Amino acid sequence: MTKTQVYTDIDYDKEGKQQGYLRIPHSRDSSGWGNLFIPITVIKNGRGPTALIVAGNHGDEFEGQVCIMKLARSLRPEEVNGRIILIPALNFPAAKAGKRLSPVDGKNMNRSFPGERQGTMTSIIAHYVTHFLLPISDIILDLHSGGYSMQFIPCALMHKVENPDQYKKMLEALLVFNAPIGFLMREVAGEGLLNEEAEKMGKIVIGTELAGSGQVSPTALKIAEVGTRNVLIHFGLLNGEIITRESQGLPPTRLVESPNRKDYVMSPADGIYESFYELGTEVKKGQPIGQVHFLDRVDWEPEEVRAESDGLMICRRGPGLVERGDCVAVMARDVKNSGSWIKE
Ligand code: CA
Repeated sequence: MTKTQVYTDIDYDKEGKQQGYLRIPHSRDSSGWGNLFIPITVIKNGRGPTALIVAGNHGDEFEGQVCIMKLARSLRPEEVNGRIILIPALNFPAAKAGKRLSPVDGKNMNRSFPGERQGTMTSIIAHYVTHFLLPISDIILDLHSGGYSMQFIPCALMHKVENPDQYKKMLEALLVFNAPIGFLMREVAGEGLLNEEAEKMGKIVIGTELAGSGQVSPTALKIAEVGTRNVLIHFGLLNGEIITRESQGLPPTRLVESPNRKDYVMSPADGIYESFYELGTEVKKGQPIGQVHFLDRVDWEPEEVRAESDGLMICRRGPGLVERGDCVAVMARDVKNSGSWIKE
């Protein structure tokens, strides 16, 4: 049995609704024997799959946190067939501070997986998720937004996993989320991600990028709420009808990918970034998409930023200030054949 420093009075096998905490030793100057309490809700009713739904993996991404808190309050056990585990703010210290990274150890939760039992706070939380929550879950929803630094057209996303059966189930879940964009990702962000850890275990794993810029976008929140419910209905965890985009008078989910590093445009300099376009604009390779202004050299011409690939601008820089190397735009192209990498 794997050990953990996390203690909880939640019994994952108990029927009904439990609201409690994951408690982690948090010894500090002001509280020698103190604990960090991370809220968790578990709703179990009879047989059925288990869905783990988390947000606040990055603390400055708020739509998912609000979506899960509302679900945690409203869901009643008799509505559920199976088990739903809800954690609105996984990196709790980061969420309390409204920061991407944890103020306790400076770590990025979504680069800390699989985590370490005797690591720092963020790593201890990741270790618990890896060894105690992922193994008992069938479906994992990790709700992200653009955070303070980025803004997205709200999208559901997934990785291109190689197992055809897993891929097919994930793609169905992605589409049933009914977001404006379905984003098929090859990761450029680095290693240590929650979703990659879950994918390795063969789980059905879906993420989101819901608006961002450190706000709670009403449009993105609605998409998250409808999408999360749809996924739970799709897997039989809730009864009810899936709310399609068509039934809301909206065009179908547009399936896109950004497979190349050139699809991620980085700022060439420090300064103020001026985007020439709003999200959702179609741009061509070589087209100027923005420019960086130099605050202390008004006599200098701004430095032009060009798209390095054709595509739909699905993401852009949130705040005006940029540093060299900051992502200022992401270009995506339509997926021609979403089944093309399934080995039949
Ligand atoms: Ca994120």
